[in-house]
Amino acid sequence: MPVKVDRDKCSGCKDCIASCPFEAIELQDGKASINEYCQACMACLSVCPEGAIFETESEEPKPQKAEGYSGVWIFAEQRSGKVSSVAYELLGIGRRLADDLKTELSALLFGAEETDARELIRWGADKVYHAKDNILQNFNDEPYAQLLTKLINEHRPEIVLAGATPIGRSFLPRVAARIRTGLTADCTSLSIDKETGNLLQIRPAFGGNIMATILCPNNRPQMATVRPRVMKRGQYDTNRAGEIIDIKADGITSRTKVIESVKEVSDITVNLQEADIIVSGGRGLGDPKGFKILAELADLFGGAVGSSRAAVDEGWIPYRHQVGQTGKTVCPKIYFACGISGAVQHLVGMQSSDIIIAINRNPEAPIFNMASFGIVGDLYEIVPLLVKKIKESKGT
Ligand code: FAD
Repeated sequence: MPVKVDRDKCSGCKDCIASCPFEAIELQDGKASINEYCQACMACLSVCPEGAIFETESEEPKPQKAEGYSGVWIFAEQRSGKVSSVAYELLGIGRRLADDLKTELSALLFGAEETDARELIRWGADKVYHAKDNILQNFNDEPYAQLLTKLINEHRPEIVLAGATPIGRSFLPRVAARIRTGLTADCTSLSIDKETGNLLQIRPAFGGNIMATILCPNNRPQMATVRPRVMKRGQYDTNRAGEIIDIKADGITSRTKVIESVKEVSDITVNLQEADIIVSGGRGLGDPKGFKILAELADLFGGAVGSSRAAVDEGWIPYRHQVGQTGKTVCPKIYFACGISGAVQHLVGMQSSDIIIAINRNPEAPIFNMASFGIVGDLYEIVPLLVKKIKESKGT
């Protein structure tokens, strides 16, 4: 430990125990003792009235704790018995990682309703750990975190992935903290380092200006969340064989109870992340009414309306429509960017779209570097023309 206690000086007053954010100090034989959870934050040094705690030369990180850990796990999120699409995307990347590591891919399915666990096998899982219990009916951090922690401690997987959804973002950090391992949020790419077998966790950093590769070499499992629509699904195989293992949620408790879930009702939205066609608007709209024209175009395709952060910040459209680094990541077949300049923070949220059509009156706008098709002009002329032409071709 880089922090030590002089037992002769220690009076056993426990002030240091209360000051430690990592529960790394215990009382042994009436004297403070530092345990292996010490993160060398030094918070205890100034608290000790006897000056009994002191810093020593920092030590090398402990040797890898990787032995005995194997297998790739993905958390298969579901609501009301329907598995969300991010679970199938995680199976796609999970399968590749498991094949590279020559290990098994397992999916974790928690809930109370009937769910077709076999579907997870058809999408690539070798095993599904299926926990069906009333306590898991509605998502709730406490029982979900307890159960996942318990399973990880029992089975010791080397990698655990979940969607960077409100659910994954909420309970996975709790699990990582309980088992004292690292967690990389919002990864956009994952692969295995061929030399060390470590998981290379890649994500944008510093406002999207660099791509950081993050490692968790000393602790297991390696945990990461992945945004929906970033990874591609794998191969669907109706003949794929796999095992479904029923898990009991015995001993799992919750101090809180979900009384009711109320779905948000929205006027102009189709689920952005599920939409095949998205028509997005930015500050170039100049006015919230501009979104009505975009909604008309989106409606013709059964698509959704998106926006840049600038339009959200202006108060023209709710945040749930925002695409980009601090909004949603989307991957539609066609993405229209209307009056959007193409800032890197917007691009990271839509650059995987199959076709990008940019409408901007500035021919130098960076969005044109990314666009499959670029239209230089005023969106208030071009979008109505597109609507008119599409209506004509549909005969409406
Ligand atoms: P602008 O950059 O102002 O561009 C407006 C464009 O409209 C211009 O190119 C202009 O030529 C064009 N235009 C104007 N009038 C017309 C017209 N009549 N017809 C056609 N074109 C017209 N941004 C996001 O979008 N999503 C994010 O998640 C996000 N996260 C961020 C996170 C951080 C930490 C930071 C620092 C920034 C983030 N941003 C995000 C903001 C981002 O940097 C840009 O400021 C923002 O994307 C700009 O939005 P915009 O393209 O709509 O506006």
